[in-house]
Amino acid sequence: MNLVKSKVVLLPCREYDEEKIYMLLKQGLDFLGGVETLIPKDAKILLKPNLLKKAEVEKAVITHPVVVGAFAGILRESGYENIVLADSCGHGTTQAVIRGTGMDTYLEKYHIPAVDYSEGVKTAYPQGVQAKEFILPKELLEQDCVISLSKMKTHALERITGAVKNSYGFIYGFHKAKGHTQYPSADSFARMLIDLNKCVAPKLYVMDGIVAMEGNGPGSGDPVPMNVLLMSTDPVALDSVFSRLVYLKPEMVPTNYHGEKMGLGTWKEEEITLLTPDGEISMAEAVKKYGNPAFNVDRTEVRKNIWTRMAGALNIFQKKPYIEADKCVRCGICVQSCPVPGKAVDFRKGKGKPPVYDYRKCIRCFCCQEMCPKKAIKVK
Ligand code: SF4
Ligand code: SF4
Repeated sequence: MNLVKSKVVLLPCREYDEEKIYMLLKQGLDFLGGVETLIPKDAKILLKPNLLKKAEVEKAVITHPVVVGAFAGILRESGYENIVLADSCGHGTTQAVIRGTGMDTYLEKYHIPAVDYSEGVKTAYPQGVQAKEFILPKELLEQDCVISLSKMKTHALERITGAVKNSYGFIYGFHKAKGHTQYPSADSFARMLIDLNKCVAPKLYVMDGIVAMEGNGPGSGDPVPMNVLLMSTDPVALDSVFSRLVYLKPEMVPTNYHGEKMGLGTWKEEEITLLTPDGEISMAEAVKKYGNPAFNVDRTEVRKNIWTRMAGALNIFQKKPYIEADKCVRCGICVQSCPVPGKAVDFRKGKGKPPVYDYRKCIRCFCCQEMCPKKAIKVK
């Protein structure tokens, strides 16, 4: 049998140099058959970077503006006319998050509007395994295709956030928070993300891993150079290459595991062709050349047996968020971000003290940790 493999393009790149990134992305698109084979010329395109929250570009919270700008430039030069950029940000609007980052300057240069989503539309997805409907932004549904421009980062719930997880920004506004209560476990949340990726079906996934985020990601981790850009039409294959580069078994990432089971893509090495500007290379070679064994990511094996299931049900030995009081400025963003009715984190001791957790209510979605602007929330 002739197996059709997923192609992942790995483009080594050590700096956010616009010209260099532009050339590399162009080359990467050629490896995938050319942008015209992926997107019809008259298509209305939505660019979806990771715009989690307002943060300095150097902190590696958002997709780097130069990557977005270079990609937008390629699309414009290739004759694409209808392009917008948007994200359902964790905190703040698209326009507010990109203001002053340099992304706004690129968008002006290429006449690409930054869109703030205005309305959620109930969208049926009856074939979904975990989720049968989504509330998607009207402005997303008005486009013909989507290009995902993700950031390489760690994630407290899913271990990593990359191509598959970036799509959570297709969910409209506060329904994102609600999704965490509907799909509270790492597995159910991952399955919902797979359904969402299949429903929206981005045409292309690009990942900015020139400077990635390790440790307490996706909002409060540390920037670390990984010196790569990745591209693929298969988000699971792309995320599995990310996983391997940081010495994390790809099948330990719930979105990879369920993504393969649910037919979104593959994490299996033998089903992936890895292409670089120097030609095709093996995964082992790529890991040796571009991998980082010291990358700080959760590599703990999860044993699934009766005892671990019982411990999970009783909230024993589960990861949990906690606040480092000396870093907390009592802004209340964690409280606002908590999707649990009645709040699992709140100013129970008054506004003069840091918020306090009620771990019996907490569903471990880690939205509070994602959104804290002062890196005051850690996970243990
Ligand atoms: S978001 Fe962070 S800084 Fe703000 S109150 Fe919560 S823990 Fe404190
Ligand atoms: S306290 Fe934090 S981790 Fe717990 S449910 Fe609320 S936002 Fe999620």
